[in-house]
Amino acid sequence: MIVENIESIKKKIASAARKAGRNPDDIIMLAVTKRQSIDKIEEAVNSGIDYIGENQFQEAYVKIPLIRDKIKEFHFIGHLQTNKISKLIPLGPALIHSVDSYHLALKLDEYLEKKELTQNILIQVNTSGEKSKFGVEPDDAEDLIRKIDKLESLRIKGLMTIGMLTNDWEKIRTCFRILRQFKENVKIPALERTDLKYLSMGMSNDFEIAIEEGANIIRIGTAIFGERY
Ligand SMILES: *Cc1c(COP(=O)(O)O)cnc(C)c1O
Repeated sequence: MIVENIESIKKKIASAARKAGRNPDDIIMLAVTKRQSIDKIEEAVNSGIDYIGENQFQEAYVKIPLIRDKIKEFHFIGHLQTNKISKLIPLGPALIHSVDSYHLALKLDEYLEKKELTQNILIQVNTSGEKSKFGVEPDDAEDLIRKIDKLESLRIKGLMTIGMLTNDWEKIRTCFRILRQFKENVKIPALERTDLKYLSMGMSNDFEIAIEEGANIIRIGTAIFGERY
């Protein structure tokens, strides 16, 4: 079942990319494993999934070591509490998608500097205006990027957002468009370490819209694995 799901999503990625005049190979699909069993995760990995995303630290801590050697990259996509930093970094996240405050960035930088490590991150932007969502407000994103760019252990590689939770496709599209336009228009002078190459947006229900709007990382959970426990 998981193999078929993956095949079907890949076809949809290809056709959404073609529709937008884009190369499907430029799009990374993260398989989001939160609240999925290790059996299913192993099935996905054996079916050729190379990129795994977890949003819950406690789960990542248990599951990622079990599959670490079989995948290319593990991405952390959830809200990160500062007291989990010292446990998350040793899991080797290739990318942390969810940096949304200077406070969190400072704590990360402090820890990384001690370990003489650098870390690739994305800035999470709240494009939907929904209060329940984490993320920096679009109006404050430029300032946050400018400040985090000064931290020597962090490398900003792009932006992440979660589309509005609604069946109104135009509203969802607007969220993704805000992120893309921010990336295209932002001109912050004298950035040293930042390279806004990734747009992480689109989940099981809305990844095709996200691809049309320029996503190059999509985060897919239930469409691969089925409902979560
Ligand atoms: C759970 C989660 C996903 C995947 O959601 P699905 O709707 O199951 O595809 C993607 N991104 C984040 C940040 C998540 O927490």
